[in-house]
Amino acid sequence: MAVFEFDLLVVGGGSGGVRAARMAAQRGARVGLVEAQAMGGTCVNVGCIPKKLYSYAAHFAESFEESHGFGWVGTAPTLDWSALKVGRAREITRLNGIYLQLLKGSGVQIIEGWASLVDAHTVEVAGQRYSAQNLLIATGGTPSVPDIAGREHVITSNEIFDIDPFPKRLLVVGGGYIACEFASIFNGLGAQVTQLYRGAQVLRGFDDDVRSFIAAEMLKAGVDLRLNSDVANITRKDGNTGALQVHLADGSTLEVDAVLYATGRVPNVKDLGLETLGVAQKEDGAIQVNAQYQTSVPSIYALGDVTARLQLTPVALGEAMALVDHLLGPVAGKAPRSMSYDFIPTAVFTHPNIGTVGFSEADARAEFGQISVYKSEFKALKHTLSGSTERTFMKLLVDDASDRVVGLHMVGAEAGEIVQGFAVAMKAGATKAVFDSTIGIHPTAAEEFVTMREPVKA
Ligand code: FAD
Ligand code: NDP
Repeated sequence: MAVFEFDLLVVGGGSGGVRAARMAAQRGARVGLVEAQAMGGTCVNVGCIPKKLYSYAAHFAESFEESHGFGWVGTAPTLDWSALKVGRAREITRLNGIYLQLLKGSGVQIIEGWASLVDAHTVEVAGQRYSAQNLLIATGGTPSVPDIAGREHVITSNEIFDIDPFPKRLLVVGGGYIACEFASIFNGLGAQVTQLYRGAQVLRGFDDDVRSFIAAEMLKAGVDLRLNSDVANITRKDGNTGALQVHLADGSTLEVDAVLYATGRVPNVKDLGLETLGVAQKEDGAIQVNAQYQTSVPSIYALGDVTARLQLTPVALGEAMALVDHLLGPVAGKAPRSMSYDFIPTAVFTHPNIGTVGFSEADARAEFGQISVYKSEFKALKHTLSGSTERTFMKLLVDDASDRVVGLHMVGAEAGEIVQGFAVAMKAGATKAVFDSTIGIHPTAAEEFVTMREPVKA
């Protein structure tokens, strides 16, 4: 029998790779992890964490403004962009260190560099080969920018965190999570933001009411959101030093300081050697896996963004734990963990936030046929004094046959925090009757979810 250096060799030190490596090593497996960049991957370095920190920073702008309605006097402070960047970088460095310590503390051997696969059990890093019983590819994804004229002038979410100087005029292209979040964030931080989306409404795939509600709120907050709009080409004024001239498909021109393209992400599979090994991929390069995260080559597994299913950190973490149990058996005395893709909650950190779990109205109608729809729209108590015109939206979808709540949507302050708790109830199969019998917490916005009594007319 072949003798391998490792039981499991993980390629990629992001959300999924770190969790799998650490959990497997804690269970006694001999584990190696290859990472070329700072530990923690997209989420820690250029994703969830720095994005949420900047979102907090941006929310202060409205808080300073709203405080006047509560009796606070004086002018609002101004943003020191460099100080924010330094604070963010310090926190990320701290997290990188924690990730590294957790891995080392669990006995994972860290291998620094870019990996490529040599055969079904061997990986090469900087000319050195490492063998393992099983390989796990958790290499994540990278921003994808369409091939427009002037592409060299645009930045992506990888660069926006350190942009210098602060872009007073920012154009955001795209209508997905990243575009909407960064349009909100930079608007809050004080930039004049234009957002272009090629389709009829942002956030395709979300509930239609949520989409139109957030679009209206973003416009109200100051984002110049333009639908059915796209870039034709981009040039720079005065050689390489001037502002950017963005020529739009409708013939108009915009002058901005920076252009952020947030037009989706592609899996990191370049130079991994997958084709040579015959690892099956989808058209966009995403690695195909079965229910156990096994690729078409039995000793090679893949999970997280590189498989391009649901690109969310908690999904990568859940997949990693399910895989470790599959490879090593369940933790003593516990059932093997599995990953369920039903009722995965998600938040979009726009201003205000979106929180959602379960089906959109259109998908619920297609899935269940007869459904009841409950909706509520109101001004949050805080804004009776704050002077803000921001409104809150909530929606419940109930399958009439079972009375089960199958969709729950919110646009409003802290929607992510609120929806997380409701996701537990929905995962447990809570019916509308259970929602109705739940006592609210008063005065909160969240109590509205348990006090919606009359469905809207179909
Ligand atoms: P990654 O975290 O991308 O890690 C992959 C790692 O593999 C990287 O460190 C990379 O350097 C390494 N790697 C790649 N190729 C090689 C190679 N050949 N050799 C060695 N190492 C390699 N999700 C949420 O749930 N909530 C959020 O709020 C959220 N916000 C986001 C904001 C932004 C701007 C972005 C871009 C993403 C956000 N996401 C969010 C998505 C989340 O970051 C990803 O779903 C998650 O990081 C995926 O984890 P992963 O382990 O699959 O890959
Ligand atoms: P998304 O897939 O969410 O959105 C991409 C957007 O770009 C869509 O609006 C799409 O339009 C548009 N687009 C695609 N190609 C083009 C093109 N050629 N020209 C113009 N527009 C184009 O990707 P993101 O990059 O925003 O984010 C990637 C993933 O990261 C998300 O799907 C999400 O899973 C994860 N993420 C999660 C976050 C969270 O949990 N809060 C935050 C940020 C990211 P169309 O709809 O018409 O195809």
